[in-house]
Amino acid sequence: DVFLRIDEVEDQVKAYLTQTRKTALEQARLVDAKIAKGETIGFLEGIPGAIKDNICTMGVKTTCASKMLEHFVPPYNATVVEKLQTQNPVILGKTNMDEFAMGGSTENSAYFPTHNPWNLDCVPGGSSGGSAAAVAAGTAIWSIGSDTGGSIRQPASFCGIVGIKPTYGRVSRYGLVAFASSLDQIGPLTRDVTDCAHLLNILCGYDAKDSTSINAEVPDFTKSLVKDIKGLKIGLPKEYFVKGMDADVERAIRTAIKKLESLGAEVVEVSMPHTDYAISTYYLLAPAEASSNLARYDGVSYGERVDGIDIVDMMNKTRSAKFGEEVKRRIMIGSYALSAGYYDAYYVKALKVRTLVKQDFDEAFEKVDLIVAPTAPTPAYKIGEMNSDPLKMYLQDICTIPLNLAGLPGISIPCGFTNTKMPVGLQLIGKPLDEATIIRAAYTYE
Ligand code: GLN
Repeated sequence: DVFLRIDEVEDQVKAYLTQTRKTALEQARLVDAKIAKGETIGFLEGIPGAIKDNICTMGVKTTCASKMLEHFVPPYNATVVEKLQTQNPVILGKTNMDEFAMGGSTENSAYFPTHNPWNLDCVPGGSSGGSAAAVAAGTAIWSIGSDTGGSIRQPASFCGIVGIKPTYGRVSRYGLVAFASSLDQIGPLTRDVTDCAHLLNILCGYDAKDSTSINAEVPDFTKSLVKDIKGLKIGLPKEYFVKGMDADVERAIRTAIKKLESLGAEVVEVSMPHTDYAISTYYLLAPAEASSNLARYDGVSYGERVDGIDIVDMMNKTRSAKFGEEVKRRIMIGSYALSAGYYDAYYVKALKVRTLVKQDFDEAFEKVDLIVAPTAPTPAYKIGEMNSDPLKMYLQDICTIPLNLAGLPGISIPCGFTNTKMPVGLQLIGKPLDEATIIRAAYTYE
């Protein structure tokens, strides 16, 4: 069972920050009792899963992998947790991540790095690296992550599993600790597309507690689990095959595209000329929003406190001691971009370019039903290889960030391996609110 598996490998993988074994066992026993009585049970009942540590769980520590929230126990559940709990799953605990979801390797956790189950010397990706590693290692059957610039899709790709970022507004962000509010979105990480569709059915839907929640009908995504993509038009943006892309990754992606064609899809080239600007746009907007969202950690409203001689000194000491390097870097970039005199030159400019990135997609989607691309330009790399160079790490996000800027849904599915036996992820990008089509294509491919 899953607890044996955790005992066997968790020491090496380190996917969890907090385990809730006692309540998990209680949840499991309740479902066992139901089965013993011959009652029918739902799809998720008794199925063990894990939740990223930036999603509030009532009575269970939610640290965002930060020292700032080391002892934070939320008095309420995030909407997604409430929704999951109506299905009686077994919740195994909270997963490791980059601090406040800032990063792409889970090395920015203030506690410890998580290891990739395919090669323990490698990163699992990030920021939802714990969630992805748990599913890949079999220490959870499903997990929940968040994606601001790729944090569900890229770790799914690095760990050889399925991860979807739904359309912005599809899943309530209530109870998700905010990083960049106009980009953040919650979604599931699973072993296959079938589990992904079932979990999406549970997670999606309008929520009055989130002002950006979309009040649109949620289709039954399991209806998209049909093997048929005949006649589907798939766009291939050449700009996503970037300079410096790993040759094995490119080969796997090109092979996957041939397979989509052989399954009956029509693949046409599309151009997304503003892709090049997506990273600089994101790395202004996301830190700008983060600098504002993280202002609440002042030693008073939330989080830890380090005493000082007066209130300003207390705040300075608290924020200096409890935020990690990367978080501080983003707060500084963001505050700079938002400050008087630079606001128009950086923040407002970035907003305009964001619109151009979105228009690239609008134009492409006039011609095609979905877009196919790599999820990341490289496979998982060695722990320590990238984290001395934040800029290099930022450039890794080129294939995932444009979707967050445009609010679009995207799924990453496994599509083969490199010569060194590391998994490669294929990304399918859908029109707004059209998760159904990318699930159908992903299921047909699988
Ligand atoms: N790697 C990106 C960043 O560091 C994306 C993170 C995320 O999606 N949460 O911001």
